[in-house]
Amino acid sequence: MSQTTTQPRTLHVPADLPDRIQHYIDGAFVDSVDGDTFDVLDPVSNEVYVQAAAGKKADIDRAVVAARNAFQHGPWPRMLPRERSRILHRIADIVESRDARLAELESFDSGLPITQALGQARRAAENFRFFADLIVAQADDTFKVPGRQINYVNRKPIGVAGLITPWNTPFMLESWKLGPALATGNTVVLKPAEFTPLSASLWAGIFEEAGLPKGVFNLVNGLGEDAGDALVKHPDVPLISFTGESRTGQIIFGNAAPFLKGLSMELGGKSPAIVFADADLEAAVDATIFGVFSLNGERCTAGSRILVQREIYDEFVERYAAQAKRVVVGYPHDGDTEVGALVHPEHFDKVMSYIEIGKSEARLVAGGGRPDAFPTGNFVEPTVFVDVPSDARIFQEEIFGPVVAITPFDTEEEALVLANGVRYGLAAYLWTNDLKRAHNFAQAIEAGMVWLNSNNVRDLRTPFGGVKASGLGHEGGYRSIDFYTDQQAVHITLGAVHNPSFGKSAPP
Ligand code: NAD
Repeated sequence: MSQTTTQPRTLHVPADLPDRIQHYIDGAFVDSVDGDTFDVLDPVSNEVYVQAAAGKKADIDRAVVAARNAFQHGPWPRMLPRERSRILHRIADIVESRDARLAELESFDSGLPITQALGQARRAAENFRFFADLIVAQADDTFKVPGRQINYVNRKPIGVAGLITPWNTPFMLESWKLGPALATGNTVVLKPAEFTPLSASLWAGIFEEAGLPKGVFNLVNGLGEDAGDALVKHPDVPLISFTGESRTGQIIFGNAAPFLKGLSMELGGKSPAIVFADADLEAAVDATIFGVFSLNGERCTAGSRILVQREIYDEFVERYAAQAKRVVVGYPHDGDTEVGALVHPEHFDKVMSYIEIGKSEARLVAGGGRPDAFPTGNFVEPTVFVDVPSDARIFQEEIFGPVVAITPFDTEEEALVLANGVRYGLAAYLWTNDLKRAHNFAQAIEAGMVWLNSNNVRDLRTPFGGVKASGLGHEGGYRSIDFYTDQQAVHITLGAVHNPSFGKSAPP
């Protein structure tokens, strides 16, 4: 089955790539203590383009010492919010001014289409700007209590925050954690994903230029089981903010338990889009195509299961398959590319194996393999399976690629059972013009976020997060501020102290 493709051009290699990717600890780029490195591939040629420092426990120890020192003795946690805010705004300005370069590097390293990588770079700047404003607007709660008392809440940064991030839209997702962690006065150790370490190392230069004090931001590259594991198990890291697979989240949860660390977990998804017969069909098809094929399908909130009411099922499937075949697969750097190259050959193999599984579980109506025009690299055709039973693996398991499962339903009750019948609960998309049904369905669905007749558009003030195997806690807006701060309650008496006279009534 052939897809629409751009004419393959040559691999675009950005100018001035670094000759190696290092850690950044206490304001300096450094190699691993043991000198170890790992290969980093570009997803179009699948050739090693750079070596990155492979951090282990010794490197995490160094980074945590630097971050702890900056927290205990440095200016950052002691600054007024508006002073930190000024630096965060400068960071946003720099990110904005370099958006094209950031997008170019991110697209090269991760395989994301350049236009979408540009959007993600701009969103990273917005994240910093948002938290820069929020931290100034944040008013601590003060309560007047009868008896001339005042109680107030003292929000304090917690200490060294460990930030562990995935390879999909890495720079933007790092900004989700860095923005609030820094705005609230914490110091950080970032452990980015090993498939895509390139853009993370750019933060160091941006932060230095913006005036972030030395030791506040530390970066350790490396494998999850080495560097990530050591960060989670470090006794001087009281907070772990993690985004990644649900299975990794379970491991981290277990490893953090003995320390009773604060945990924020943004995990996997298998989100349903439910299209009722009364929906605006064209809008629903457009949105559900975008919802699963944008960002190469490597999107945690991808609407990768589409449930369609029987009356419109055949028409929906026909339109959907036709449109999926017109989605443009191409080189990440080409401006008209809609689906680029998947991040890594290991991930490509995983997605292809799910496509093979799908062929034995359901009916394939679009895609189903590698596009003819791309004999090498991690390119996958936008792939559509229909009549997918709810016990199929392609219905139940997160594929994290451009693959969608479409299933018919008859009644609202059946749609709800199907929608909730997976272990995940991240996002849900509802398409209906029946207002009551939309809201009732939104209440009943097991999903952290629901979009009604709407695409994946989210205001930064709203909480982001999932339920069930999709996560623990929320990021976004004040929820992030809460996560990165201790809320200490202080109780003061301004008038006379009225102590109950314990021990004074009996004779001495
Ligand atoms: P992953 O779990 O394999 O890796 C994520 C990070 O964890 C990487 O930095 C990795 O090195 C590290 N890691 C791995 N094992 C570790 C361990 N034992 N201890 C500590 N750290 C460890 O996930 P991935 O493949 O990079 O990312 C894709 C997954 O992320 C998908 O499941 C996707 O849905 C999910 N995701 C979720 C959200 C969300 O907000 N809910 C957003 C983006 C991605």
